[in-house]
Amino acid sequence: MDYPAFKQFDYSQSIAFARGLVDDLNFSYVSRWKKANPSARVIGFLPIYIPREIIHAAGMLPVGLFGAGDRIPVVRGDAFFQSYICHLPRTVVELLLNGNLDEFDGFIFPSICDVIRNMSGIFMLQSKNRYIRYLDFPQNFDEQIGGVFYRSELERLMEDLQKLNNSGIDTQRLNISIDLYNKNRKLLKHLQDFRAAHPHKMSAVDYYLIRRAGNIMSVEDFNDLLESLLESVKNVEADEEDKIRVVVTGSFCEQPPLGLIKTIENAGCYIVDDDFQLGLGWMKKDTPSDTSDPVNALVQAYLQDSIRSSAVYDSENEKGDQLAEKVKHLNADGVIFCAPSFCDPALLDRPHLERAMDRHHIRHFSFQYHENLGQFHVIKEQAGTFADMIKLWE
Ligand code: SF4
Repeated sequence: MDYPAFKQFDYSQSIAFARGLVDDLNFSYVSRWKKANPSARVIGFLPIYIPREIIHAAGMLPVGLFGAGDRIPVVRGDAFFQSYICHLPRTVVELLLNGNLDEFDGFIFPSICDVIRNMSGIFMLQSKNRYIRYLDFPQNFDEQIGGVFYRSELERLMEDLQKLNNSGIDTQRLNISIDLYNKNRKLLKHLQDFRAAHPHKMSAVDYYLIRRAGNIMSVEDFNDLLESLLESVKNVEADEEDKIRVVVTGSFCEQPPLGLIKTIENAGCYIVDDDFQLGLGWMKKDTPSDTSDPVNALVQAYLQDSIRSSAVYDSENEKGDQLAEKVKHLNADGVIFCAPSFCDPALLDRPHLERAMDRHHIRHFSFQYHENLGQFHVIKEQAGTFADMIKLWE
């Protein structure tokens, strides 16, 4: 790409670049990528997770679509959905109808909820000449059942993409892609660890912008940006403030407005972990990148190493224990359950997670938002009271 050398960026340049990408509803990064790779395709995907390695190995650019917040008025998007659902699909459809997604050659809708599933149908009707795929994920983690099913889903996806791009996905290419995404997760983990140890050096908004930009950029560019950021963030001068440490959970799909993230921190809570861009860290371990069957490596990684998210049916209550473990590991003081209004996966999980927090004696409180929320004073009061309560009485 003819983009500036990310490796020479200082901290503020990295954040400004990321903000530019996140704010840009015309996806000019995508247009530039296509100019630099004229025969290659761009595939948009909805939250939470898709195996981006396969798209990369097909020579394509995977780009995450997380709605448009309050940056576009929803005029036609509303006509496609009933009132009582979340806001994200309205702005995604509005982007489609407004032509903001014209550079995209296809879209993948992972199975997470009925809204995303239905949106794949709307895209099929409104975008007839493009590749549209509803990608199903197994709820059964037995290798012989869920594993066989998931492999067939991935093989079908590979077949489709190869036809679309007119190029093959061979073992070597897929191993290279797996390796690049392993590196990406490692760099993100370093950044996450740094921030958890020094949350005053990088605000939650800056951290969010970098991660969100990572779902737009190519993995090669994003790795370069992260490498320079990991160096430059060490030089940020900032005093540590008397704030509590919180984990924010429930916002893995429709994204909270930046003002909301800022409000939580300004109210006295350092956000030391969140799930705003959950798909970036879907695998807890490296996926083997030197095998003769990389598709199997991706399948096994999904079955054995993926996090237990709200997109997964959890009969053993692993998600509650996983959250409690995270809180303890990060030495956090509490949990904020922060979910979009009408988000079935997040809100159905919430009572179970709250009960798990009670069992583990972890403080928590909850609220709901929508992506175009403009008033934060009630949330500021709630978060501020939560912080004061913990500081004064714990
Ligand atoms: S915000 Fe929740 S309900 Fe809405 S599309 Fe995303 S996962 Fe589905």
